[in-house]
Amino acid sequence: MNAPTPTANASADQPFSLLPLAPAMLDNLTQLGYLTMTPIQAASLPIALEGKDLIAQAKTGSGKTAAFALALLTRLDPKNFAVQAMVLCPTRELADQVTQEIRRLARFEDNVKILSLCGGTPMRGQIDSLEHGAHIVVGTPGRLMDHLERETLNLSALNTLVLDEADRMLDMGFFDDIVKVAKQCPKDRQTLLFSATYPEGIAKLSAQFLRNPQEVKLTQQHDDSKIRQRWYEITETERLHTVALLLLHYRPVSTLAFCNTKQQCRDLVDVLKAQGIEALALHGDLEQRDRDQVLIQFANRSCSVLVATDVAARGLDIAQLEAVINVDITPDTEIHVHRIGRTGRADQNGWALNLATMNEMGRVGNIEVAQGKQSEWHPVSELTPASSDPLLPPMITLQILGGRKEKIRPGDVLGALTGEAGFSGAQIGKINVTDFHTYVAVERSIARQAVSKLSAGKVKGKKVKVRFLNEL
Ligand code: ADP
Ligand code: MG
Repeated sequence: MNAPTPTANASADQPFSLLPLAPAMLDNLTQLGYLTMTPIQAASLPIALEGKDLIAQAKTGSGKTAAFALALLTRLDPKNFAVQAMVLCPTRELADQVTQEIRRLARFEDNVKILSLCGGTPMRGQIDSLEHGAHIVVGTPGRLMDHLERETLNLSALNTLVLDEADRMLDMGFFDDIVKVAKQCPKDRQTLLFSATYPEGIAKLSAQFLRNPQEVKLTQQHDDSKIRQRWYEITETERLHTVALLLLHYRPVSTLAFCNTKQQCRDLVDVLKAQGIEALALHGDLEQRDRDQVLIQFANRSCSVLVATDVAARGLDIAQLEAVINVDITPDTEIHVHRIGRTGRADQNGWALNLATMNEMGRVGNIEVAQGKQSEWHPVSELTPASSDPLLPPMITLQILGGRKEKIRPGDVLGALTGEAGFSGAQIGKINVTDFHTYVAVERSIARQAVSKLSAGKVKGKKVKVRFLNEL
């Protein structure tokens, strides 16, 4: 992979007229009120318009849609009634938004046909529309796969493949479907990958089917200034209870709490659970299946606190982490920096909260020296609950009996929930399919309804058993 394009190149206020775009396209942009390029557009459009593969990372709302839409529209031949560009999106809502934005950007041409192909809508209508000819298709990986399997979608004329919100698609378990869809595209196409964050899976996807991609990043993964670090002096007997005070005061959605020993991890989980806080421990003694379930629940935001030792947390890749708590101070300054670097990623701020006893002040001093800055101490008495509501995770995990062995795909579950059951894609979180089980995170407010609708309906044409992974 090439080195990231420096942010400096992507300075704001560059007009679209700097790009090799047709005059009619430029007029249309002016009419839409797009006067200058957003930074991600300025950084990625020159590369995309040259036909090169691209990985672009920028936060939500930064104008990524136009960054790929202008590239694929420039190459489009409206006289050729064949699918020339395909955009993969995680949900129907996002696919609809992208479809609308491409329609607006394509207004300068008369007859560009753009089709949205997502689950939860009958196949028949989509097949009819495809038979009438479409230039651009926008859809979810599962439904696009279905069309490819039935040979109702022909990609032989495709020149541009876009993966939009790639991180969210990976969250939803679409890795395998994306790879299968990409394999059916002509080899000499251009592939553009857009993402708000850069989890490990993106590199895996890119290695599978992007060709020498240029990389554009507009957010620093590890930006120290995004980590707000605070220290609290405590006595040994106060330690575990103070963790609960921190959580109720700062109310982070996801917190990783580091302890120096396994026993401390177990004790902390007991203390937090007694306070009604959803906490799970991750330590080396867990069976693989239990470890998977713990990680799934934490990553899908149905568990507030993951309590771990450094060894157990190695290799964890969690995108959104509002807080890291150092329950114990580590004697190794490098480990401290590594621990707190897990929060404050991408465009988010993060808290690094540290508890230290008098006995640990030597370690604190070493950390200060290593970081080249003084610790910001706050009194424990400041830690008052920010709300009288309990600290509840926003999502709840449902466990479906049946997984890869039953050929269940994430799209089947998403389709069942957003189709017949009538939930919106925004109410559904991560979907993880393992060999024998499928885990889907849903918003707390719809959890009971989701269980009864899933149990009453069908997934992949079959009745399924569904339950809450944890008691409510
Ligand atoms: P992202 O995909 O990065 O979350 P979108 O592509 O959805 O962002 O764009 C966010 C909003 O910004 C949309 O309403 C879009 O119409 C608008 N927008 C995009 N590019 C420009 C631009 N160059 N000038 C003004 N508005 C823009
Ligand atoms: Mg977008």
